[in-house]
Amino acid sequence: MKIHFCAAFVWALAAIAVAQQAPVPVEQEPHHHVVLKNDLVLVAHVVIPPGDATLYHTHSYDRAVVHLTNNMVTLQQLNQPESEQMPAKIGEISASTRKGDPLTHRVRNAGPGPFEVIDVEFLQRPTQASLASVAAPVAAENPSARIYNWVLAPGASSAQHTHERPYLIIAATTMQLKMVGPDGKSSTHELKAGDFHWVDSKVTHSLANDGTTEGQVVELELK
Ligand SMILES: [Zn+2]
Ligand SMILES: [Zn+2]
Repeated sequence: MKIHFCAAFVWALAAIAVAQQAPVPVEQEPHHHVVLKNDLVLVAHVVIPPGDATLYHTHSYDRAVVHLTNNMVTLQQLNQPESEQMPAKIGEISASTRKGDPLTHRVRNAGPGPFEVIDVEFLQRPTQASLASVAAPVAAENPSARIYNWVLAPGASSAQHTHERPYLIIAATTMQLKMVGPDGKSSTHELKAGDFHWVDSKVTHSLANDGTTEGQVVELELK
């Protein structure tokens, strides 16, 4: 019996060792669903059910996050105490500078509903200062990208602007988005929160809300 007890004890220690698992690269973390990867960006749709937590994972590149849900979360860096609960809000945007300063952490959904974000990792920094002009007011930025945030009332439209560099457009909310080109031609898209589109050609457009409720889209343009 004693031997069995010891075996169980060793097994329990092993389980604790697993609980403090070795960090994984962000794209291998099972709550990070990779929805796009090319030479320039890795886009993950992160979904954490209530009460669940990610594995410890490492962000090694400059990154940006767009929140898709309202909820409470905690963050915990490796070998650090867990943070207090903090609110996450639909449409919140952050940009961080990570290249050369990796972050290893885990995220726990402390709220009653789902926690969802779009996480964008910028895999290449510009090798030289970009000559591209800034397309619009910058909501957030890091050395890899500028972020433009468009919160549009029903019927409202952004100023016309030009993207000289590849960019990613992400819907933070449900939205009926009308894109209008300089020639007046338009296309309308029924977007759900988390829908995104990668564009790697020069584009001039304005963005209009063709729906009946406020909508938000975010553009992340490479520098
Ligand atoms: Zn993370
Ligand atoms: Zn745009």
